[in-house]
Amino acid sequence: MGTKATDQLIGHYLDAARFMLFAGEVREMFPQIKSLNQRLYALHRFVHVLSDPDRGSAFIADRWVWSKGEVSDWETTPAHETQASEITKVIKKFNDDNPGYRLKAGSDHRDLKQQIHGWKSNPGVQANAPEYLAKVRVEIRRKAKDGTPRYPDLGDILDPVTGQHVFQIGHGGLDLVALSAAALLFWPAAMLPATIGLIEAERFQAVARFVEFLKKPFKGSVAKLTVAAPGLSAHGTGRAIDFRVHDSSGKKLHGAGGAAGWRSSGFAAKLKSAMSMAPHFHGPLASPDEPWHYFFDPES
Ligand SMILES: [Zn+2]
Repeated sequence: MGTKATDQLIGHYLDAARFMLFAGEVREMFPQIKSLNQRLYALHRFVHVLSDPDRGSAFIADRWVWSKGEVSDWETTPAHETQASEITKVIKKFNDDNPGYRLKAGSDHRDLKQQIHGWKSNPGVQANAPEYLAKVRVEIRRKAKDGTPRYPDLGDILDPVTGQHVFQIGHGGLDLVALSAAALLFWPAAMLPATIGLIEAERFQAVARFVEFLKKPFKGSVAKLTVAAPGLSAHGTGRAIDFRVHDSSGKKLHGAGGAAGWRSSGFAAKLKSAMSMAPHFHGPLASPDEPWHYFFDPES
């Protein structure tokens, strides 16, 4: 199979997987990444989060980026008021404890478009994504012992009656519709045969096999990515706050960056101590290492 045909097949499996695993805005995010290798690598990261027992679909639902409208709505809530008042107390304590220095707080909301741009322009993604595509090309060309392809052509993926993608959750019956309304779902491969609906078992299982492959850990030449999968940035909602330290003249000494400097100067610990004034904040963010980044959770 030539590269062009291989990539076309990968594109079809990628689509089937995103319809099978995701709903709503998450599902529609992937086509916004035009390059196949970067789209595939994003799908791998999402499947990785989804299959991580500590994160899963709840993490994606919680982190999923807010629209500008959702941010403005949030700014009118009592929770936002609590957040603002706790930040004021943190700043007062920090400034009282550390004469000559001033703490500032703020955080730019990164909408989906910015996060997709951040993904595409990240050097780690640019290095790893083509390597990942190369691995998937090898996988998708594999054959069974009898010579038949392990990843057959998916054939007609649109249901002629409803016009829906046949791998879309909710296709096969009422209970599936109810599940898809939960917005995000991960299908354990063992559950698949019961959900088939219009699709033959063989095709459904081939897509499930593809998802199993996406789940496998992958280490590209850039071992640690410094960018979240598009839509999952810690700054996609109104709840993450980055702090900065300025001197009394207003000059910024520490901002969002330089974790080592935050620690060696002692300001990481000083900020942590001031955060005792803010019972609804958690942090700092450990991965990636951001001693300046705290997360507000009104329900904690
Ligand atoms: Zn941050």
